[in-house]
Order: sequence, then C-alpha cells, then structure tokens
Amino acid sequence: MQIENFIDGKFTPPIDGNYLPNLNPANGELNSMIPDSSHDDVNSAVNAAKSAFSNWSKLTINERIDWLRQIADGLEQRKADIARLECEDTGKPISLAERVDAERSITNFSFFADHAKSIADLEFRMDDATNYVIRKPVGVVGLITPWNLPLYLLSWKIAPALVMGNTIIAKPSELTPSTANLLCEVLDSIDFPKGVINIVQGLGSTVGQAIVEHPEIRAISFTGGTETGKIVARTAAPMFKKLSLELGGKNATIILDDVDLASAAKGAARAAFTNSGQVCLCGSRILVADKIYHEFVDLLVEEVEAMKVGNPKHRDTDIGSVISIAHKDKIHSYIDLAKSEGGEILTGSEFTILPSNANGAFVAPTLIANLNIDSRCAVEEIFGPVATIHRFTTDEEAIRMANITQYGLAGSIWTGDRARGVAVANQIDSGILWVNTWLHRDLRTPFGGVKNSGVGREGGDWSLNFFSELSNICVKDD
Ligand code: NAD
Repeated sequence: MQIENFIDGKFTPPIDGNYLPNLNPANGELNSMIPDSSHDDVNSAVNAAKSAFSNWSKLTINERIDWLRQIADGLEQRKADIARLECEDTGKPISLAERVDAERSITNFSFFADHAKSIADLEFRMDDATNYVIRKPVGVVGLITPWNLPLYLLSWKIAPALVMGNTIIAKPSELTPSTANLLCEVLDSIDFPKGVINIVQGLGSTVGQAIVEHPEIRAISFTGGTETGKIVARTAAPMFKKLSLELGGKNATIILDDVDLASAAKGAARAAFTNSGQVCLCGSRILVADKIYHEFVDLLVEEVEAMKVGNPKHRDTDIGSVISIAHKDKIHSYIDLAKSEGGEILTGSEFTILPSNANGAFVAPTLIANLNIDSRCAVEEIFGPVATIHRFTTDEEAIRMANITQYGLAGSIWTGDRARGVAVANQIDSGILWVNTWLHRDLRTPFGGVKNSGVGREGGDWSLNFFSELSNICVKDD
C-alpha cells in the first residue's frame, strides 16, 4: 500500500516523489510506503490552509460543531480499522488499540463538539463601560505528534483547533502514518471542506522542521520528546508563535505503608507496563515504603509475570512489541547499564520467553531493584517496559525522591488514607497526579507538565484557549 499526503482535500503524492518504508515492528514486515515530504509539500499545504481559512473561520461555531460530529460518526464506522492499523504500525496489542486508541480518537471529536457548546461569552462591567472579550481563531496552525498513541494524540489537537475556526497542517510520526491517512479517507467520504485539514507525512527533521519554521503558521502544538521540544521551542520562539509543548516524563508511583497491597500491585503494574511502558504518563519509578517493601514487591512481580508477551494480533496478549528494533536496542542498553551499576533484575529481560520471531522488537516487562534513586535508569526517560523500584521510610523522603528528576509530568500515590494521598500529591512537582488510580481521565481537566515535561496545558477550556486569540473590546457607556 502507498500512502499519500492529503492537501487541499486531495490525496497528493510528495512533490519530490520520494517515499519511506513503514514497518510493522512486531514482525518486520512492510506495512506501507509513505511520503518522504519536503518543504515544498509543507508550502503547498500552507497555501491550501490559508485559502480555506476565510470560509472555515466564518462558519458559526454550531456549524463547525456539526462537522466534528460528522467526523466522529465517520471514524466510528472505521473503528475496527483504526485499531488494526494502530496495532500494525506500533506493535501494541489489538485489545489495547481497540479499548484505548480507537475509542479515544473518536471521543476526542465528540468531546470537543460538546465542550465547545459550553464556551461562555465573557463580559466585564465597569462603572462607565463594558468590556466584551471576543475569541478569534489563531489562523493556520501546525500540529506535530508522536508514535505512541497516534490518532488519539493527533485528534486531541485537531478537534479543538477545528472547532475554534483554525485551519490545520498536521504531521503524524513517520513511524505511525496509517491512522492519520484513515482520517483523511473519512474526511474525503463526508465531503469535508477542502484545505481545512492538511496532513503532510514524512520525517521530523524535514516536514516537522518546515512546519515549525513556516512564518504563516501562527501556532505550534507539539507532543513528543523533550530534546525535540527544545529544537521546536528554539525555532518557534523568535517568531512569537503560540507554542504548546507536551514532552517526556519519568513518573513516580508511590506506595505508602497503609495501602491495600493487592490493588496497589495491580495498579503499579498497569501504570508501568501499559503499551509496553510507552505512555508519557507511565509510572517507571516505583517508590515503596520500607515497612511493606518485600510483601509488595512479591505481589508486583507476580502481577508482571502474569502479563502475556506475544503477538499483538492475539486477543490474550497483554504486551506486544515496542515501536522499532532501534528502540528495543535502546531499552536493552538501559537494562545492561542497570546491571553494570549493580541493579538486580527481579523479572523480565532474558528471563521471559518472547515470541520466537527474530524480526520482532519485543522486550519483556522488566523490574529492576537496588539502583540509586539518581542513577540514570531511575531518572532518564527509557520509554519502554522497564521500571525501577526504590524504598523509602517517610512520606517526606518519598516526595524528595519523586521530585529528583528533571521531568514533572505525572505520578500516582497509593494509600488507604485519601487525605494523606492528597497531601503527598500536593507536594509533587508534576502537572497530573492520581491517588489510588492511574490514567483516569476527565477530558475537561488540564493536562500537561512542568520542568522538562513541557509548557502549557491541553484539555477542555485550555485547548480551546490555545487555539483562539482573545481580543478585548471596551465600550464606553453613552
Ligand atoms: P519525537 O520527539 O522523536 O517525535 C515527535 C514528533 O516530532 C514526530 O512527529 C517527529 O517526526 C517530529 N519531529 C522530530 N524532529 C523534529 C523537528 N526538528 N521539528 C519538528 N518536529 C520534529 O518523539 P517520539 O519518539 O515520536 O515520541 C516519544 C516521546 O513523546 C516521549 O518522550 C514521550 O514522553 C513523549 N510524549 C509526550 C506526551 C505528553 O502528552 N506529554 C504524550 C505522548 C508522548
């Protein structure tokens, strides 16, 4: 199969005629060829988005809401295809792709359709005048997303950008192009206005960079790694673009001594290994109270060893492959580093039997104990199925250990005492914290990180505000 760009409502080959292979990481097979697009393709997409802006931005919000609902309906009909394509592009289990990726990609459109209805007109009355706050679209916006939750994260940006009246240039990861292409097929099938959503496929260093550099793209919403985020920030800042950066994480899971051990072990295992640990919110450093350390760790190892690593297409698979052979090698190099620093592998790595497929990028869920809290494996983002375990004696010590990294995205606290959990959560330098749960999301709430995990928030009103410019009109009374 050959995927094309989607520019001005048409499937369009890259101007230079170059393509890249898109491989299935679970077996090394070729999924498709995708455009290796250039600056020229981005320019052509920007021209289309500029022409479409005038009509799209003039629609009423209800008309745009109606289009979001039509997209959600169109995606709903292709739900099984979304899950299959995400499974083939990423190697994640099909059941996870159905439950999380397909479900949320559709919900993002219906959620923002509903949420945009609740936008209130802002008015501030003075003694002798009234201020009217007007929302305007930003213009042409650039959306750049990673491979771990492909359409889920892309639609999380497209839906609010659209509903606020912007036109879009979007670039999915070169490793996961297929569901963005499926979205274009849906747009085509519903006669969606041409040029409003343009998808340019290709590499970050060419297409991504061209989007960030383009003077007529007025806002950049980027989700990806912290190092790439720095490049994006450096490029966009001197042009005074609106910028939202959702970056990496190295999140703590804190197990307090008063917890129900069995449910905490289940929660910690899920937080560490969902999607092979390739979720920015994954709890990859597990901090355990001294008093319950051994009992908890035994239960956790049991939970992790019950996870079935295998063919992502099989319904009983819990852990599929990671995104690529190169990523598998990077993860293994961290496991080797941990061993060389005295880390004890409690489970995983070579101890688990993996699918007998030399071309698959499989890594067993791996738990490592005995590392210092500031060792590289405990503070750097590995973004794979590897979690380190550390012990603490007091809540204050757990908080200090949680805050030691340069990241500040998320974390979870497990305790029998809600108030104690909230008190600990309050002192962790992260944007998103859970008590006795993990990845429990209300889409109206702010989502984003502090420190090296990013700048800005997405979700509900925060997304609608990012994709709008506010003007205040002050009218003096007669
Ligand atoms: P990445 O930074 O390598 O790539 C992300 C996107 O940026 C891709 O589309 C890539 O092609 C593009 N890109 C690369 N170089 C670019 C450049 N110079 N200019 C513009 N775009 C460029 O990240 P990845 O490996 O795809 O994803 C994994 C990372 O994403 C992890 O660090 C993870 O924590 C992070 N992530 C964060 C969140 C969040 O919400 N905070 C969510 C998911 C993933």
